[in-house]
Amino acid sequence: MNSKNVLVLPGDGIGQEVVAPAIAVMDVAAKQEGCEITVTQGLVGGVAIDACGDPLPAETLELAKAADAVLLGGVGGPKWDNLPMASRPEKGLLGLRQGLGLFANLRPALLSAPLASASSLKPELVAGLDILIIRELTGGIYFGEPRGIETRDNERVGFNTMVYSEHEIERIARSGFELASKRNKRLCSVDKANVLEVSQLWREVVNSIASDYPDVELSHMYVDNAAMQLVREPKQFDVIVTTNMFGDILSDVAAMLTGSLGMLPSASLSASGTGLYEPVHGTAPDIAGKDLANPLATILSVGMMFRYSLDLPAAADSIDRAVAEVLAEGYRTADIAGPNDDVVGCRTMGELVIERL
Ligand code: NAD
Repeated sequence: MNSKNVLVLPGDGIGQEVVAPAIAVMDVAAKQEGCEITVTQGLVGGVAIDACGDPLPAETLELAKAADAVLLGGVGGPKWDNLPMASRPEKGLLGLRQGLGLFANLRPALLSAPLASASSLKPELVAGLDILIIRELTGGIYFGEPRGIETRDNERVGFNTMVYSEHEIERIARSGFELASKRNKRLCSVDKANVLEVSQLWREVVNSIASDYPDVELSHMYVDNAAMQLVREPKQFDVIVTTNMFGDILSDVAAMLTGSLGMLPSASLSASGTGLYEPVHGTAPDIAGKDLANPLATILSVGMMFRYSLDLPAAADSIDRAVAEVLAEGYRTADIAGPNDDVVGCRTMGELVIERL
């Protein structure tokens, strides 16, 4: 039997609750494809601060580097909100991204037809929505130098630098083309090339490699228009590739098209292949420990793990199908429930998915 190592970092709040059914789903789906998964658990975030005073213990990073993939619940919570910036739970997540070199953040926005009424847009605009936003994660204005606040001519001035080198643009653009070629073969690169030189270089580099992917139809869009088009006619997109800041904003817009945080998975990929998979939502302290959390975002993140890190696309397909079936049968956790739905808890939702695998 084929075997893989997965590091699971439950983290804080509902992390432990949503990760438990996801591990069970991972085990069943992998075995069906002849793969045995060895799960190791580690500490990150607030629980790591409590246990050893460090949001990302060295041991956790070592385990992550050695694993085929990492599944994360979420980090943070009110208990650690008053700590200094440098020792907060979020530092654990940033450290993992840096330590693993995770430069591509994949955020699908998928809306199965039965949930279309959860969106703030008209159901016909979003039913069956299936788009993928790829956000560059390690460069751009969030990391560019120089940055700071200083006094010039007797007043304070704040400044940041949006900077991308050719190799950073090429690397993320290639991810975009490759992922688009496995989907509906349409890639839209989003920039602000009418105003920013960094975007002009971005567009040039994206265009320069397009001929390597003749089956993918490439288009370009300015970011302001992309924001409009996402809420006007979101189904026109297949894959969007963009910078760190534009992707940060657009992926949240796309997320809200689907209406529920509890349904959104994500993946962050490195050049070496080790990926980090996590739900888009946070640790939901308001519902933690009550068996109310929706585990589907984490379960769908396991699906992405099978697809992008573990090379088991059939297992990914069965998870996606099992989740769709459970929803089509009317089962809902409280966050996505309508008046006539069967409301189930986190554990039961996980069991229902496993039954349908
Ligand atoms: P949140 O996503 O945790 O919660 C927002 C709202 O959505 C809450 O009402 C919550 O109950 C609900 N919700 C979230 N996930 C749900 C799920 N799976 N099922 C049902 N309902 C769900 O965001 P927040 O309240 O802004 O942040 C809470 C904590 O999470 C903070 O400490 C924040 O820093 C942290 N956080 C962590 C991550 C991460 O680890 N990647 C991301 C965002 C927020």
